Amino acid sequence: MIGEIEKTNEDENREYGDRDLEEMGEEVSLDDEKLEEFTKELGEKLKENPEDKKLKKADKKLREEYLPKYEKYKKQEEQLQGRNSCSKTDPDATFMRMKEDSHPNSNPKAAYNVQMGTENQFITGYSIHQSAGDTNLLIAHLEQQERLYGIRPKNIIADAGYGSQENYEYLREKYRGIYVKYNMYDREKKRKYIENIFRVENLRYDAQKDIYFCPAGNPMKYVGTERKTTVNGYKTAIKKYKAKGCRGCTLRSECHKSRYNRVISVTPEVIKYRKEVKKNLDSAEGKKLIKQRPVDVESVFGHIKWNRNFRRFNLRGLDKVKVEFALVAIAHNLKKMAKMLTLTPCFATI
Ligand code: SF4
Repeated sequence: MIGEIEKTNEDENREYGDRDLEEMGEEVSLDDEKLEEFTKELGEKLKENPEDKKLKKADKKLREEYLPKYEKYKKQEEQLQGRNSCSKTDPDATFMRMKEDSHPNSNPKAAYNVQMGTENQFITGYSIHQSAGDTNLLIAHLEQQERLYGIRPKNIIADAGYGSQENYEYLREKYRGIYVKYNMYDREKKRKYIENIFRVENLRYDAQKDIYFCPAGNPMKYVGTERKTTVNGYKTAIKKYKAKGCRGCTLRSECHKSRYNRVISVTPEVIKYRKEVKKNLDSAEGKKLIKQRPVDVESVFGHIKWNRNFRRFNLRGLDKVKVEFALVAIAHNLKKMAKMLTLTPCFATI
């Protein structure tokens, strides 16, 4: 049987080379049921031919090599829970690139992602996550806060790292005011951006015909929709529009780098939400709130990390890390409160 497997492997290597199964669009999975079936089948064959050397070898290999490996991989998959890495010394921690090690060649470190909400520099809530990007964590963070404290803040103010379609849709349903920047909010005010006729955002659009016009004035027709799903399961639809006659166009070197006709990607929902958010951010209230954001939350992070030197967790494991940060947050709030009430001597030793 092992011989058969090896032969099949060789045949497959000859046919598919280095291409992996994902590239070939196939999905192969091994589960407990299939493995049990295979082990049973092998056992039955061995019972019928107890002296068969090949079967004996296959059985030995299965029990001593493949089954322990399968168990090991299964355990690792359970530990990973969809993550692509975890630390050997703390399996709950995920490898992440640190802000202070932002060099592309720097090594990621085992870490947790702390999301924190503040009001007047008091920590109103925190959540600890096992993935690096902030965008997909906003909803989980807000839902946790609502579940634990039963209250929902009036307005949500956050930086551009949280400005996604999924977050905007969620916030619009649940909150009165959305003051979450999107990545182009600051840049789109600059003259360089406004005057750039090649930017997708600056192309003319005919909503009735659903056609964009490229910088040379040629129509860009709708050619299809790409569907994507975020890690939270939210589905987005990205529309594609294609230009005609890029070959020989005098604007080509400035317009795009593709060898073919230019294709642009547009998400109508995102455009709609951005318009709405821009209106909020440009209002007097929005300007006040967005100015207050770094003073409010960044200073708390700075205070904890730099002034109090809390730069790494001392405990391991998600549950313990949650408790450790709870102590940090409580200490921060008490100190702040003590300062406000001018009771510094009483709380100074916390
Ligand atoms: S390169 Fe293509 S897309 Fe760009 S302006 Fe010329 S024709 Fe239009």
